Amino acid sequence: MLVNSGLRDKNLPSVAVGVITLDVPKVRSKMTDARIVVVGSCMIDLSCFAERIPKPGETIIGDSFNIGHGGKGANQAVAASKLGANVTFIARLGDDYFGKEYLKSFEDVKIDTKFIKLIEGQPSGVAQITVSKCGENQIVIIPGANNFLKKEDVSAASDIIKSAKVVVCQLETDVDLVTESAKILKQTSENGLLILNAAPAKSDLPDEVLKCCDILCVNETEATAILNEELITVADAEKAVSKLIKKGCKAVIVTLGSQGAVYGDQKSAGTIHAPSQKVDAVDTTGAGDSFIGALAFYLANKPELPMLEILKRSCAIAAISVQKKGTQASFPFKNELDPKFF
Ligand code: ADP
Repeated sequence: MLVNSGLRDKNLPSVAVGVITLDVPKVRSKMTDARIVVVGSCMIDLSCFAERIPKPGETIIGDSFNIGHGGKGANQAVAASKLGANVTFIARLGDDYFGKEYLKSFEDVKIDTKFIKLIEGQPSGVAQITVSKCGENQIVIIPGANNFLKKEDVSAASDIIKSAKVVVCQLETDVDLVTESAKILKQTSENGLLILNAAPAKSDLPDEVLKCCDILCVNETEATAILNEELITVADAEKAVSKLIKKGCKAVIVTLGSQGAVYGDQKSAGTIHAPSQKVDAVDTTGAGDSFIGALAFYLANKPELPMLEILKRSCAIAAISVQKKGTQASFPFKNELDPKFF
């Protein structure tokens, strides 16, 4: 089930990067029937911006406050859907005001919400975030309704999972959901790929979880947690990819912020590196989610592309997202992108 690593491709078409600045209408048609299923979390981000993070017991007056839609699962589902993918999202929200509003926002971006349930009497998941002037942050997550997403709910969606070209999981919800998704995908010969974004960082991730996914995607911090080794350079990431493959991962992507992403798999010798575009980043929150949404989009809709090209385009889309404030709001719509992306 490995994807084409593209190590042999020399003359890859270049991808133009940039957002069309015209005020284009935010409507677009779905690209193909290739289905992506995302299993994961929804969080309401309650963000306070202040001069500094308060000390324990201290109260300070901040500068501004923002309520946003987040959660890694939701972000990745939205990122792929805005690119024109057919996305089904399996998630749980509270039956509170936030949950109802969040559900509507998924419908607005044409995500299939058949497997999103509002849990009676439970609050939606929240992330209480404080951001200081120097960019430090402090986050408390209350999972709320996300804790009610169980492996039985994934089993209940087995038909749609079996029909998926790509299934995406993360670790803000129960790790059992990852192994259950893998089990369901194995029951069919459709060759659907399971991407595991092992985030947030987890140092005690069982090897069976690493082995059950087709592509493990981690940033430097998440790779460090699994390998207990610090990663700074592209060379460090290349070594980390090789070590994760030795641990049993079929294929691995390590994202490196402004340094791009490194890929390797069990079948090819060596690794490939897609550099990032040099851009003026204004807000890198959700860059990884933008990258994974794009990766899922290309693996589902353009599986014939060499892996290096898929990485380059995913990096280019994530680079666009970091030039705008916000998380889901910063992910580009298909009709805001140069047609060369498609
Ligand atoms: P995460 O958000 O999970 O920490 P990264 O910071 O590694 O993930 O970012 C994911 C991808 O987003 C990178 O591989 C890169 O393509 C893009 N990206 C992130 N930060 C920048 C940046 N400052 N400039 C250009 N691209 C960036």
